[in-house]
Amino acid sequence: MNGSYVDGEWLRHGDVIVNTSPSDDRDIIGEYACATRDDVAHAVSAASLAFGHWRDRSPEDRAVILDASGDAILHRRKELGEILSREEGKALAEGIGEVVRAGRIFKFFAAEAVRLTGAFGASIRPGVDIETRREALGVVGVITPWNFPIAIPAWKIAPALAFGNTVVFKPSEMTPASACMLIEILGEAGLPRGVLNLLVGKGGDMGGSLVEGREVRAISFTGSVATGRQVGLAAMEGGKKVQMEMGGSNPLVIADDADLDIAVEVAVNGAFYSTGQRCTASRRIIVDAHIHDDFVEKVIQRMAMLKVGHALESGTDIGPVATERQLSTNLDYLRSGAAEGAELISGGQVLDRPTKGHFLSPALFVNARNDMRICREEVFGPIAAVIRANDYDEAIAIANDTAFGLSAGICTRSLKRASDFKARAVAGMVMVNLPTAGVDYHVPFGGYKASSYGSREQDEHTPDFYTNVKTTYTYG
Ligand code: NAD
Repeated sequence: MNGSYVDGEWLRHGDVIVNTSPSDDRDIIGEYACATRDDVAHAVSAASLAFGHWRDRSPEDRAVILDASGDAILHRRKELGEILSREEGKALAEGIGEVVRAGRIFKFFAAEAVRLTGAFGASIRPGVDIETRREALGVVGVITPWNFPIAIPAWKIAPALAFGNTVVFKPSEMTPASACMLIEILGEAGLPRGVLNLLVGKGGDMGGSLVEGREVRAISFTGSVATGRQVGLAAMEGGKKVQMEMGGSNPLVIADDADLDIAVEVAVNGAFYSTGQRCTASRRIIVDAHIHDDFVEKVIQRMAMLKVGHALESGTDIGPVATERQLSTNLDYLRSGAAEGAELISGGQVLDRPTKGHFLSPALFVNARNDMRICREEVFGPIAAVIRANDYDEAIAIANDTAFGLSAGICTRSLKRASDFKARAVAGMVMVNLPTAGVDYHVPFGGYKASSYGSREQDEHTPDFYTNVKTTYTYG
């Protein structure tokens, strides 16, 4: 049995989570002991004790360890990708791809550790010099969801450590195996004890204690809007910095001048890959009436080619839905869409496969309206809704009419339209002739409106979140 990792020791007491593969209910990945509230306090104080030493290591020392961590992740990509796909359900190639991305993120932030600079400013007073410098915050709490169980922790943990902070990491209770293996690899790469601590367990049970921990200076959260608001309010009440990445209901506009073959690939990939369980997935496909029927027909043909099956089986395009509960939520949305008048034109069937898992065929609604639940709320599964628009302006209005603003896409051959869409889309990330999901790791990641709160992740502005700015004045 595995469990939490605090101050360099694995803890194996507390309630137990049995971790089962969504591809096969007979495949028990492992049993994981849940952290208690005392363990949370222990983890925070271990991270706090380790902070001074880690902060005072030279940036190059930290860079060397992070770079070695990146290498170790890349070296074990197959093993880590397999455990990820086995427990989360995304197809193996995507699981390995996610691990590779995580390895590269560690190497990227290794270099960022030595790049951290300050500034020299002119003073309004003669003879006074002003400098600004960045300093580590202290203990950072990292709370992550299940759908990218390696990459999201990597893009929070790597910058936090690079800039001299120590970390208490609380992954989703649904993906403890990926988290444990990641921690094991980072420990072997040379992270000193106490610098990175792991708490396995349910968010509702002990996530709050982490957010409220007196010595925790900042919380970086990714997950649903509902949890994010709760976490954000508690963090702010405790005077902590907070950053939240949350859900979306991302629009993809198919303009009347789109290359239909590209548009179909973009739509199918954006809506259904990773079983549609991406915050940036295309949920609302807004199609110009002039090409609507041709586009829908081609999408249905392409969907018929997708192979839904066991995440580890070769040839699988779409793995299972992550949990039975998530499957039942998806089925509820399928019923809701039909009840509100949308037509389920393809998929949406629970599938039998040789192993008993949560298999759902990718589902496409047509004749959807933007005021339906399937469009207003975040559907987190392989379900997309096609909305017909009379022209480009109406398509943009529909795309922007949402509480969210994470990612938005357009398929068009017109440079003028592409430029116009990039300016008018109310979203943190805009894609032209590319799926709404799928981003690089060295440029800003984040959304508008309900999708995000606080500074962007992943880019050169990352120190804005993970450091404090100090302004010094010197005379003489
Ligand atoms: P979730 O909100 O249920 O859980 C996220 C994390 O918060 C988990 O680790 C959970 O244990 C923890 N948690 C739950 N209650 C808590 C509490 N009271 N205090 C502290 N922590 C608590 O989300 P999920 O189901 O794991 O993930 C899916 C959601 O994540 C979707 O809404 C998706 O859009 C979103 N997501 C967003 C992004 C992004 O970058 N915008 C990326 C991936 C996923």
